[in-house]
Amino acid sequence: MATILDGKAHADRMLEAVRQGVEARLASGLRAPALAVVLVGDDPASHVYVRNKSAACAKVGVTSLEHRLPADTPQAELDALIDRLNTDPAVDGILVQLPLPKGLDSKEALHRISPAKDVDGFHPMNQGLLLEGLPGLRPCTPSACMSLLAHHGVALKGLRAVVLGRSEIVGKPMALMLLEQHATVTIAHSRTKDLPAVCREADLLVAAVGRPGLVEGSWIKPGAVVVDVGINRVEDPDLAARIFACEPKKLETFQAKGAVLCGDVRFGEAMQVASAVTPVPGGVGPLTIAGLLTNTLMAADQSK
Ligand code: NDP
Repeated sequence: MATILDGKAHADRMLEAVRQGVEARLASGLRAPALAVVLVGDDPASHVYVRNKSAACAKVGVTSLEHRLPADTPQAELDALIDRLNTDPAVDGILVQLPLPKGLDSKEALHRISPAKDVDGFHPMNQGLLLEGLPGLRPCTPSACMSLLAHHGVALKGLRAVVLGRSEIVGKPMALMLLEQHATVTIAHSRTKDLPAVCREADLLVAAVGRPGLVEGSWIKPGAVVVDVGINRVEDPDLAARIFACEPKKLETFQAKGAVLCGDVRFGEAMQVASAVTPVPGGVGPLTIAGLLTNTLMAADQSK
């Protein structure tokens, strides 16, 4: 059986490091780092994410400044708020919660955030720094995955890594960070031919696709390390029966609740083939917020 890579435990370690960093700032007479979160509209999942972010801020002593705007906010008003936050010396990090309601351009909003306060690491300037291998604010999810792999002593040099997914948020930056650590990286996506065969080459498989249970046990090289970034809600009983065939407990939960969260990887099958696997929930999910607060501290320290 594979080892479970416990994301929650590692997130706690990362948050403790942030808490200590905040304490050190306060001890030297600096203020606590401040994160401004902009939430537009009433997407229920976004409200949950923002609540979780505020709770994590409170835990480590980061000031959380929430800006809630109605769903029909015009782009100019959102832009004006971002401009104000960019020049506000009491704000270190700015996060615009995605997705934005219809009619708002998320790229325009994200590109407007000052690169020095871009704690999500989505600004082209920060993406360019990552491409060049220079320090900057890096996307939270892949950074935190790298931190998890380092903590567990996964030696990346020379490793065959396959990243499933090529989004700007996860897939592409994850591939660049692995490359920086001297892994040999393949990026696969929806047009990749013979995906199972590509995955079977991987000593390290990172799945960031958003398709429940896409990666079967037979796609995984024996002994591989598997990082499952996907967070998917399964409501279809036939799909649940297929992807949880090796996870009777999960199937029971599904039958009791009518829906469950799962990753892009069939966890029960992966556990029988891989050497280490991140679970969903409890794997990469908690790490992302820890990555965000790590970036917020970094942004504050850099602006001093
Ligand atoms: P996107 O939808 O932006 O990207 C998905 C990628 O997967 C695309 O590159 C797409 O290919 C590829 N893809 C889709 N279907 C297939 C398929 N059948 N076979 C191969 N590749 C496929 O998603 P994100 O990167 O934003 O997120 C991916 C997953 O990670 C989601 O489940 C999301 O919820 C989760 N997530 C979790 C986070 C966490 O904190 N744990 C944080 C961020 C995301 P193509 O480019 O060709 O369309």
